[in-house]
Parts: sequence; structure tokens; C-alpha cells
Amino acid sequence: MYTLIRTVRTRLFADLTWPEVREAAERGAGAVLPVGSTEQHGHHLALSTDAVLPTELGLAIAEKHDLLVCPAVTYGYRSRPLSGGGQGFAGTLSVRAQTLMMLVEDVLRELLRQGFRRLMILNWHFENQNFVYESAWLATDGGARTDARVMVVEQPFSQLSDETMATMFPEGFPGWDVEHASIMETSLMLHLRPELVLFDRAVDDRSRRHPFYDVVPVPDDFVPASGTLWKATQATADKGRLAWGEIVAELDAAVATDLPKEAP
Ligand SMILES: [Zn+2]
Repeated sequence: MYTLIRTVRTRLFADLTWPEVREAAERGAGAVLPVGSTEQHGHHLALSTDAVLPTELGLAIAEKHDLLVCPAVTYGYRSRPLSGGGQGFAGTLSVRAQTLMMLVEDVLRELLRQGFRRLMILNWHFENQNFVYESAWLATDGGARTDARVMVVEQPFSQLSDETMATMFPEGFPGWDVEHASIMETSLMLHLRPELVLFDRAVDDRSRRHPFYDVVPVPDDFVPASGTLWKATQATADKGRLAWGEIVAELDAAVATDLPKEAP
């Protein structure tokens, strides 16, 4: 399906030299922009979790689809209490929506200017959704620019198999919004980057209230004290390996469909 891609020294965009990047653009390589956050992830996960995971995900499919993985956008939109614990924790460094949208748009425009035509925004931080779509929209002049394509991955996967869900969440699935610093993210980090996990400090927690709406200013009972929104202690590296295999396979198929080497 693909023309032969000669071995690339590294898939990390910023670790390449400028002639290597120029050659990549000329041969039709794509570029992935991971978008994450610097955000509290409980007592046990690194602040960098939401930037590390999409970077790893981009790298997992990069060779097969001839993609380079750009330095992640490591500041995200404001952490919200019902999906990220909120802004009240030490270490959470967020930006306003306009800053995020302009930053992502500017980086996309730079990649386009340099000749990259297959672009992917790969977002992991829940609160960045929609804003990154706006960046893609603006960078392509509202869809008028037809010589390039931006795949906007606002959430890194759609769903896992029933078997994997049953293994991951034996006591029932609480919803992805509270899967912050909990079973899924902790399991993935144990599988991929165990050196960034202090698992003996993991706790199970939840906010006292989790309504279907949000409130400003933030009610205290929307915020779990630990910053973990669900059951982190049930995470394992094996669960992470299981879920990761499906997440990578799903994105791999999505790229083959909507961002193949031949397109646009
Ligand atoms: Zn996260």
C-alpha cells in the first residue's frame, strides 16, 4: 500500500535536523501535533501525563504511516473540576482558550508553510476538545484550503472492546470524564512509562457531587481532595497493555482511512 519509506533516524520532529525535516516534507511525510496539558494527576502520576500519552500514541503509528511527531503542546485549557480536578491544585499550569487556539493554529500554519500536507492534532486533555478543532478550521482557512488535510483527534479513541472494558472496569464503567488519573490513565502509564508512576501513592477517590452540569465559581464538593477522580488503585500494567493495543489499532485504522500517505 505504501511506497518504500527509507529508515528515518527518529520520528521525533524536534530531534531531527533541518535537512531531514525538509526531506520528510518533500517525500510526503505527515506531522502529528500532540496536545496535552501540565495538570495534576493525583498523588501518583506526573503532571506531564496528558502530553506523554499522545506523544507515545503518535510514535506508535509513526513508522507505518511515515509521520513525524512534533513537540507536544504541553499547556492545555483550564482544568475543570468534573473532568480534571480543577485549577486548585499545585502544578496545574493552564492557558485560556484563545491562547491554546492561537498556539495550535500557529504551529499548524508553520507545518503547512514548510510543505507538510498530512497533519494530525492528537489531543489527550479532555478540556481541549473543540478548541483544537477551531485551530484546524482556522489554519485551513475554514476548509477552503484543499491541498492539505488535518485530522482532528479530540479524544484519543472511541471505545474499547467489551472484553477489555470488563477487565479494566470490573465494578462497572464510571464514564471517561472521571477517568482522570484513574484506572485507564494509570494503567497506560504503568505500561508505557512506569518511571513516571508512584503507584504506592495511588488512591481511590471521587467528588462528593458529580452533576451533569458545571458551576462557576467552582463548588468545593465538585473537587476530589486527591485529584484522582475515580479508582486509581485498580490500575495495572497488564490492563494498560491490553487497552493500548486497541487504542493504537484504532488510530492506525483511522490514519489509513483519513490520512493515508497518498492523500490528499
Ligand atoms: Zn490526563
